Amino acid sequence: MLKSVGRPAYSGIAIGRACVYRKQQSELPVSCGTPEQEQQKFDAAKETAREQLQALFEKTKAEIGEEQAMIIDVQMMMLDDLDYLESVADLIQGGASAAAAAQESGEMFSSAFAAMDDEYMKARAVDVKDVSCRLVQILCGTQTGAILDRPGILVAEDLTPSETVQLPKDNILAFVTRQGSSNSHTAILARIMNIPSLVQTQIDLDDDIDGKLMVVDGFEGVCYVDPDEETLSTMRAKQAELAQQQAQLEVYRGKPSVTKKGHIVKLCANIGHPEDVEAVRKGDAEGIGLMRSEFLYLGRDTAPTEEELFEAYCTVVKAMEGRRVIIRTLDIGADKKVDYFGLEAEENPALGYRGIRICLEQEEIFRPQMRAIYRAAAYGTVSVMFPMITSVWEVREIKKFCAKIRQELAEEGIPYGNAELGVMIETPAAAVMSAELAKEVEFFSVGTNDLTQYTLAIDRQNAHLERFYDPHHPAVLALLRMIAKSAREAGIWCGICGELGADATLTETFIKMGYNELSVAPSRILELRKIICESEVEPE
Ligand code: PEP
Ligand code: MG
Repeated sequence: MLKSVGRPAYSGIAIGRACVYRKQQSELPVSCGTPEQEQQKFDAAKETAREQLQALFEKTKAEIGEEQAMIIDVQMMMLDDLDYLESVADLIQGGASAAAAAQESGEMFSSAFAAMDDEYMKARAVDVKDVSCRLVQILCGTQTGAILDRPGILVAEDLTPSETVQLPKDNILAFVTRQGSSNSHTAILARIMNIPSLVQTQIDLDDDIDGKLMVVDGFEGVCYVDPDEETLSTMRAKQAELAQQQAQLEVYRGKPSVTKKGHIVKLCANIGHPEDVEAVRKGDAEGIGLMRSEFLYLGRDTAPTEEELFEAYCTVVKAMEGRRVIIRTLDIGADKKVDYFGLEAEENPALGYRGIRICLEQEEIFRPQMRAIYRAAAYGTVSVMFPMITSVWEVREIKKFCAKIRQELAEEGIPYGNAELGVMIETPAAAVMSAELAKEVEFFSVGTNDLTQYTLAIDRQNAHLERFYDPHHPAVLALLRMIAKSAREAGIWCGICGELGADATLTETFIKMGYNELSVAPSRILELRKIICESEVEPE
C-alpha cells in the first residue's frame, strides 16, 4: 500500500481505479526512426484512432443522438483523406517523425479549411485539428481522450480550468493533483461536481499507478494506492456513514431557508455549465446565484456565438422554472485562459486585463453576451452581474451599454426580457465604494475568493501561500460587514457567491451581518439550510 498526503480541496471519500492524466508534451519527440519505421508508426496510430473514433461514434449516437455522432463520422473520414495522408507521407520521407508529420499536416489542412468561403468547409478546420491532435497524442503516448471511459480517480500533475471542463465529468470519482491550490477554479469545479479532491500530494506519477485501486480521503487529505484490506474497510465504513448523514438532511428538502426569528437567507447554487442544473435540482437550490459564464468559453478554439450562449442560458433558465438565475458576464483572465482572443501574456494576470475590463474595452466580446442574456430573460427570471468592478464609472458605462443592447433587440423585433442588474463586490475598492455603488444597482454579490486575494495581497493560485490566504482575516470580515451595511442602507439585497459562503462556521455571522443570499456548491445547500433553520440569530 502506498500512502500520500496532500491538502484537501473538497471533502468526501472515493474508491476506484487510478487514471493518470498526462498533459500533451509541448515539444514533439525529436528522436526519429527511418522513414519506413515512422510510416509504420503513423499507420498503426491511424488504426488506433479509427477504433477510438468508432467507439466514440457508437457512444455519442446512443447517448446524444445520430446528428451529433455525425461529427465523429466526419473525423473518421478524415483519417482516410488522400491529400492529408499524402502530406504526412511526404513529410516523413523528408525526415520528419510520424508525430511531427501528423501535427504539421494537421495545421496546414486546418488553416486551408479555415480560409475557405464555404461555412461548412470552414467549420471542418476544427475537425482536422482534432483528428491530428488525436494522432499526435497516440504517437507521443500522451493521450487523454480515452481517459476515464469508465469511472475512476483522476491523478495529474496539475489541472487548468480549461482542461477540467473537457474531462468526462460523469466518470470522475475524485481528483488528485501534485500541484494546485484549494482556492483555484479547478478546486471550485470539483466542489460543484461534488467530488472529493486533493491538491499538493506527493504522489509519484511515474510510479506505475495507472489502473491501480485507489482510495481518496478528502477529509484528511490522504490518498492510498493499492490499499490494504483494513484501510479499504475503514474507508467503506466512512463512506456509508457519510451517506447516512446526507440522508438525515433530507428532511430539509423543499423547506424555506428561514431562521427561527423569521430572517430569510436564500440558498442558491454556483454553476459553470448548463449540465450542472441537474446537481442544482438534486441539491435543492432555490435559484442560481452564480453562473460562471466564462466556463462556456474554455476548452474550445473559438468564442461561443450569441446563439450558442443564448441556447446555454435558455437551457438553465427554463430548467430553473421561474427561480432566479444570476448570470455573471465573462470573467476570463488570470487562471481562466483562452487563446482565441489573442490576449497578451501579462506579468501579473490577476491584476491585469480580466473580467469587466475586457468587456468594457472590447464591445465585440461584450455585445453577444448581453444580447444572449437579455434574450434568455424572456424565458424566466434572469439577473446579470459584472465581475471585477472597482469604480462607479464602470457601472454607469455598463448600464448605458445594457440600455443600448435592449434598444437594439427591440428595434430588431427580437424577444427579450428584463434582467435585474448587480455587481460583484470582489475588490477592496468596490467594498470601500459600496455605498456609492449601491445607488447604481439592484443587488450585490460578494466574491470572497478574489476579495480575500486582493485584500490580503495573496495570490489565490499560489500553493505555497495557502497558510496566509485566510478568508477569516478580520480585514476581509470587516469589508463583508461594510458591504452588507451599504446594501441595507440603499435598500438593495446582497449575497455571497464566493467559496466562503459555504463556510458553515460563518453562517450565523453572515445572518447577523444581514446577508440575504448565500450561493454555494449545490451539494452544500441542505447542510446550510439546517443551520439557518435552527438559528436564533438576527441581523444586527
Ligand atoms: C470570487 O472571486 O469569489 C468569485 C465568486 O469569482 P471567481 O471565483 O470565479 O473569481
Ligand atoms: Mg472572482
